[in-house]
Amino acid sequence: MTIDRGFRFHPLFLWAGTWVYWLFGNGFTRIPRLLFKRSLQREEPVVNTQNAAGGFEYSDARLPDGDARFVFQFVSSAMERGCIAANYVESLGARREGDLWIARTRNVIDGQEMDIRAKVLINAAGPFADDHNALTGEETEHHHLFSKGIHLIVPRITPNPRILTFFADDGRLFFAIPMGVRTCVGTTDTRVESPFAEVTDEDRRFVLDNLNKRLNLDRPLTCADIIAERCGVRPLVVKTRADGNVRDWLHLSRKHEIDVDWAKAHLSIFGGKLTGCINVGDEVSGIVARLGIALPHRESLWYGEPHPSVREEYLRQARRMNLDGHTSPESIESLSGRLWRRHGQQALDLLAEIREDPR
Ligand SMILES: Cc1cc2nc3c(=O)[nH]c(=O)nc-3n(C[C@H](O)[C@H](O)[C@H](O)COP(=O)(O)OP(=O)(O)OC[C@H]3O[C@@H](n4cnc5c(N)ncnc54)[C@H](O)[C@@H]3O)c2cc1C
Repeated sequence: MTIDRGFRFHPLFLWAGTWVYWLFGNGFTRIPRLLFKRSLQREEPVVNTQNAAGGFEYSDARLPDGDARFVFQFVSSAMERGCIAANYVESLGARREGDLWIARTRNVIDGQEMDIRAKVLINAAGPFADDHNALTGEETEHHHLFSKGIHLIVPRITPNPRILTFFADDGRLFFAIPMGVRTCVGTTDTRVESPFAEVTDEDRRFVLDNLNKRLNLDRPLTCADIIAERCGVRPLVVKTRADGNVRDWLHLSRKHEIDVDWAKAHLSIFGGKLTGCINVGDEVSGIVARLGIALPHRESLWYGEPHPSVREEYLRQARRMNLDGHTSPESIESLSGRLWRRHGQQALDLLAEIREDPR
């Protein structure tokens, strides 16, 4: 993290803050380091330190494969325990019949429609939560406003595996995130009216200008360097639609809210962050249990990494097979590490399959 001269907080003050944060985390990660301008220059020559007052290094957890695989691993773990998950199926809304919800759904690949019956309906449609409630006729206390955020994927700007962090011209945090042989840069925070947002020239200019200003590149990045673009909306929670006129846009809470219609066994999840997904899940399953619906795996830990002994067994088998001897020369990690990271416990089955057919 680089702090410019004249920024509202001195790097020393922010560094002290990282220590508090680090202690809250029981010192789980590496100790935060204060970086004077000269050490910043030495360790990250790509950072333009001309206007820098200093900086610091803070270590935190990170999703090396991105959010999609992280989410998929939850879905996959749930399916191993009997959950039925279906993608490319759209809910067209639901109606209440007696004690049951009947959701009308459409297979968006072949257009076929079918009904799904449920004791409880959990609306986790993200930015589309209000739309789905309108289809179902559910009234809620909370609603969404949308903030668009974009990221650009550009050629790798530094071989160091650190995330570089700055404050952009609008005062918001700005990141350059390593992504293998690419770098992912962003983001923006623009209020939009619809979840169907698109990257505009203005967005691209904002991201590239902020990045070019803060880095020492051989030549400034231009739109021609953009390899791919990401665009999404953050659903931000407001209590009534009148809050739509909020003045302090950037200070709207990013916390989630769950509205419950106890009489109809209906839950709506609003807002939140991916980092809070386990807490949201716990809260949702607690509510579902209070509705009198038994959840088979509520008391056991069904997601995340298996017991360390499973990993030890996996590594033992991988060593015996000399799996790492097949690591691609371009890969930045060993093959055994890669398979474990991507497949967890299922990597053991992969080893068995590789033994059957080494090709
Ligand atoms: C630019 C940006 C940066 C972000 N950065 C961070 C970050 O650094 N850290 C962090 O923790 N979080 C971050 N977030 C927030 C994070 O992405 C969200 O909190 C998270 O994705 C919410 O998950 P969700 O499952 O509630 O909703 P979503 O991920 O939005 O999932 C909702 C799903 O419902 C589906 N759906 C909607 N309507 C229907 C329907 N009628 N029928 C069937 N399916 C439907 C949608 O297709 C979608 O797949 C960021 C978000 C954005 C946009």
